[in-house]
Amino acid sequence: MKPSILVINCGSSSLKFALTDPATGETHLSGLAEKLGLPDAGISFRHGDSKHSQRLEEGNHRGAMHAIIQQLQHLALFDSVAAVGHRIVHGGEHFTESTLIDNDVIAGIEACSRLAPLHNPGHLLGIRSAIESFPGLPQAAVFDTAFHQTLPERAYRYALPIELYRDHAVRRYGFHGTSYRYVSEAAAEWLGKPLADTALICAHLGNGASAAAVLGGKSVDTTMGLTPLEGLVMGSRSGDIDPGLFGYLGTCMGLDTQGVTDLLNKQSGLLGLSGLSNDCRELEEAAAKGHAGARLALEIFAYRLAKYISALMVPLGRLDALVFTGGIGENSATIRARVIELLGFMGFALDSESNERTIRGKAGRITREGSVPAIVINTNEEDMIARDTARLAGLTSH
Ligand code: AMP
Repeated sequence: MKPSILVINCGSSSLKFALTDPATGETHLSGLAEKLGLPDAGISFRHGDSKHSQRLEEGNHRGAMHAIIQQLQHLALFDSVAAVGHRIVHGGEHFTESTLIDNDVIAGIEACSRLAPLHNPGHLLGIRSAIESFPGLPQAAVFDTAFHQTLPERAYRYALPIELYRDHAVRRYGFHGTSYRYVSEAAAEWLGKPLADTALICAHLGNGASAAAVLGGKSVDTTMGLTPLEGLVMGSRSGDIDPGLFGYLGTCMGLDTQGVTDLLNKQSGLLGLSGLSNDCRELEEAAAKGHAGARLALEIFAYRLAKYISALMVPLGRLDALVFTGGIGENSATIRARVIELLGFMGFALDSESNERTIRGKAGRITREGSVPAIVINTNEEDMIARDTARLAGLTSH
């Protein structure tokens, strides 16, 4: 039986998983446990074309892991699991690359919890229940922040008193690193160039959205910062705002820090601007019917993105390709067309037909031959996590 990797992406109340062949990227079984900690916790499985859901007897992370094991046994896949790979949002400055998990690594992830209080504690629950469920199997941690640890100081420091960095780890970290690593490797392959010779701007546009400048396969700047709130307009996150907003809303609305933070994370972005939805596809449908808020939200999303893409040229100095990925980047021909139009001065010329065609899993160039390439690549963070885990577990050499 060929060895496969169980990839786990654990939140505080959810657990997403995929059983992946690290050699081919093929997924044998995947699923999602939701509402963990609530009475109606449940889990859904997808195996080939068949799907099914069930309630969880024990509605927590451990119960979800037991249900996954039962399902693996039922499908005779259990013995193929050779290692477990965990997606970890924040690795701070501790972790510059993926690593096998031991007690020191767990302590390091715990130490980073104050930087990602909504994510790292959930990851630790996942790690602990996976160690309990798969004793003896190698477990690896793959960090969203690690890829951006190559940022030079001029890009990662805020113009704040030095003590904040020295004593409180206040700096820009950047996120979506696993996706950027995957798409930059794929882009180098598409360009037919060694990764070390490439200059890329990659835009990961999903419900969370960011962009990164990647030079020679290394991140040199990115739009997210200390937290995933900085930078682009997102589904329900504001992206950049004037930090003076905190004091102002305190005075005129009586909001405390948590109140403003919640507003910026959960009620802003496309949702706040449109007053309708955080979902790009829904907004495109509404905009087509004349909804003014939806139109404005999409225009501001595209404008902010174009502005940042041009800013990311500063650390690169040249560009081999602009890469679109994530749910919006891979599917929204409208957003891509608007961004390419706004960036015409950089040498992009849209191939409208190819842009309209390159959706739903298709990949490739959406600008005309002879102009600067903008390409769509379907990201696959699970595959990257599986590949790293297999390498660290000694199952593959690359
Ligand atoms: P992700 O977080 O990567 O799953 O991306 C989610 C975002 O992708 C949501 O805003 C979706 O509306 C958007 N999306 C998915 N499919 C489409 C589509 N066909 N057209 C426009 N946006 C889409």
